[in-house]
Amino acid sequence: MKESILHYVWQFRLFTDNDLKTNEGLRLEIIDTGRLNTDAGPDFFNAKIRIGNTLWAGNVELHTQSSDWYRHGHHCDPAYRNVVLHVVKKVDAEVRNVNEECIPQLELRYPAHIDRNYEKLLNEKKWIPCADHVGDVPAIVVSSWKNALLSERLLQKTAAIAKLLSGSIRNWEEAFYITLARGFGFGINSQAFQALAQSLPMKLLGKHKNNLQDIEALLFGQAGLIPATKTDDYSRALKQNYRFLAHKYELHPIDASQWKFLRLRPGNFPHVRIAQFAALIHASSKLFSKTMEQHDLASLRQLLACQASEYWQTHYRFAHPSKRLNKGMSKASIDVLLINVVVPFLFYYGHSKQQQEIKDKALRLLEEMAPEQNAVLAGWQALGLEAASAYDSQALLQLKKEYCDAKKCLRCRIGHKVMQSSNSKPITP
Ligand code: SF4
Repeated sequence: MKESILHYVWQFRLFTDNDLKTNEGLRLEIIDTGRLNTDAGPDFFNAKIRIGNTLWAGNVELHTQSSDWYRHGHHCDPAYRNVVLHVVKKVDAEVRNVNEECIPQLELRYPAHIDRNYEKLLNEKKWIPCADHVGDVPAIVVSSWKNALLSERLLQKTAAIAKLLSGSIRNWEEAFYITLARGFGFGINSQAFQALAQSLPMKLLGKHKNNLQDIEALLFGQAGLIPATKTDDYSRALKQNYRFLAHKYELHPIDASQWKFLRLRPGNFPHVRIAQFAALIHASSKLFSKTMEQHDLASLRQLLACQASEYWQTHYRFAHPSKRLNKGMSKASIDVLLINVVVPFLFYYGHSKQQQEIKDKALRLLEEMAPEQNAVLAGWQALGLEAASAYDSQALLQLKKEYCDAKKCLRCRIGHKVMQSSNSKPITP
């Protein structure tokens, strides 16, 4: 028996609640089960219960059996002094708080299929535990859950922006520049790209905005990627330029070992991405303000479209010529930047300035963009949950990562429907 199932039954009032009685036989009425606490301390705060004729307001603690109260040391912990009800699967002892006061207990009774369904979910080895049932869950439940998941995902993404702005960077443009640089890392090199941007203030790059060679020298030099040996004319010129600029601005390169190449397609090599980033900086200043000014998806895509300089059309690394290939940002890469950088940034800006229309614009962008294509989304599609837009795909990615993989089915709205179904009863809205 897992305590989490008791939490779940209590939170959603799935217990059989006619004629509830405490372990001492007193009539018990649950007015409010309280607010789930996921931090240290009692499991539910601010519950309201009536025992006999007395109304109690306080906390509720749940355990598999009463004696767990002592096993967990709650009897000598002042944080549990305000527990007004101990809810257990089995009463096997009297429990007292730090003041030696006896705490009323309730043996929780609930339908047997809840335990059965939970066991099935826990032991299921399919791609997701509810693979056999998710198709039966009403569309309205899935749709409202997707909205909540999307908000949750945006909140997670905006937390990083909030962190930047609460630190030494108090400027939206600078925070956007760093977040955008991070986006150019496309996951695998995001940390390195962020370190690179933080080692090279936007203002400094701005001084050289009209000179692409200077921008490339600063970015490749700070990235620690300009080779000392095996050079060619371009890399030698870049090195010389960087040496001069680094001396002038007292710059120190980041640790080049941060850059990862393993399992990357050449088109995603850091060199190519840095060259594209340099081209973007060269083409536009005040990128955040410009982003805010764009009214539609097409103009935002246009703003982020950038083409690596001539040298990189025939190189993936320094001094290794390759077949000429267009090294412009693909539409798919631009959309990844829109999803991971622009949308969270607009959303957070709208939130901070209390401008709902900016938040709406961010969400609209997601609705207008096609869904990403990857193995996770293919998995959902196979189960009948096809993403119609990036809004949907972001929600489904959040669901898989934060709930299905973590087996948090009891916190999932789909799981809630699956848990309540019994063999004789289909899932109902
Ligand atoms: S978290 Fe939800 S969607 Fe994922 S397996 Fe569990 S019940 Fe299904």
